[in-house]
Amino acid sequence: MVDDQFPDYLNVYYKRLFPYAQFHKWLSYGNVNPENFTNREFSFTLHEDIYIRFQSFNSLQEFETEIQNRCPFKIDIGAVFNMSPKVCRNYPQFHAMEKELVIDIDMTDYDSIRTCCSGADVCQKCWRFMVIAVKILERSLRDDFGWSHLLWVFSGRRGIHCWICDESARKLSPSERGAVIDYLAVLTAGDNKRCNVNHPFIKNSISIIKEEFENLIVEQKFLETPEQCSKILSFIADEKLKEQINLQFSKYQNSLQRWEALSLVVQNNHKRGLLNFKTKSCVEDILLYLAYPRLDVNVTKGLNHLLKSPFCIHPKTGKVCVPINPKVIDKFNPNTVPTISMLIDEITEYDKKQKEIVSDANTSSNRLKDYKKTSMLKSVSIFEEFLRNLENSWKGDRIKNSDLKMEF
Ligand SMILES: [Zn+2]
Repeated sequence: MVDDQFPDYLNVYYKRLFPYAQFHKWLSYGNVNPENFTNREFSFTLHEDIYIRFQSFNSLQEFETEIQNRCPFKIDIGAVFNMSPKVCRNYPQFHAMEKELVIDIDMTDYDSIRTCCSGADVCQKCWRFMVIAVKILERSLRDDFGWSHLLWVFSGRRGIHCWICDESARKLSPSERGAVIDYLAVLTAGDNKRCNVNHPFIKNSISIIKEEFENLIVEQKFLETPEQCSKILSFIADEKLKEQINLQFSKYQNSLQRWEALSLVVQNNHKRGLLNFKTKSCVEDILLYLAYPRLDVNVTKGLNHLLKSPFCIHPKTGKVCVPINPKVIDKFNPNTVPTISMLIDEITEYDKKQKEIVSDANTSSNRLKDYKKTSMLKSVSIFEEFLRNLENSWKGDRIKNSDLKMEF
């Protein structure tokens, strides 16, 4: 995408479309502590890969002006520090205080198993891996950890970020972050260790995988080639059982039939009491290997780790890093996400039409916010809904605080 027009497009995008006010509202967290915003580190990647860290802003106005002046190709968000990053980054006592807990899932970690695309490409078929990942993590983060302010964002090309914004999550230490991600990262990329399939978290995850698995196996053709079949058979730690399954594999050609045959053989052996502790969870082991979210654990562990900001433009694809509504993650199509050139066309088109009805000069639609004239409207609305929920929790906090004061 990076063509000659990209800097010009960015210029318009930052002047007219970037949702500064909502963004500032998010990172101010109800303004209980103004330093939440003013001591936050931003980093910019400018033209020709010039990378500047430790930017920070005293107000929404300053943030807006600076971004419009610099026109960064990429904006990353870092931690909230104990003092202003811009001014104090070289002070010995300068250190990170808090940050959202973030989770990064990238499609490249699925390259060893996905068969439809590879590398930077992504399609609706392999997007199903992301659908499963979001469903599993949504359930666990809300039910197991009790967090409710989860901002899911498309990374602009082939992955998803989750920003967990509850206060208790923002205040986690690096070692606590490590514990959370170790709990969630049952499998790290390419790993096929066995897990305790009786753990409630794994049980819940497996039942989510099962809901999607038939579609996934039909689309991904996991059991087509001899190499694929032998990889799956490597999960069967019993030679006799392996032979029985292999025999079934030879009778069928397509992946779904082979999978059903494998499941049936295992089921029959289970009924006859022939499975041992190594083989009794082999179907679950395979399901986890093929469909469990593959998380980049280092992104989550570091308090200091920077992550690409929502509403950035991915410089390679030109796509906006849009917030995603996890409830309809099945409907999300990474290939129809608005691109910067599309958005610029949409406002140009809109303005042209407005000029044509110039006699109506006083219409309120003239004062319509620019993003509302474009296909970015939906993404901003998702962001605003997330902010409304956050806001309700601040109101709760304020009431709690005033109650406390009354007691004393
Ligand atoms: Zn694909």
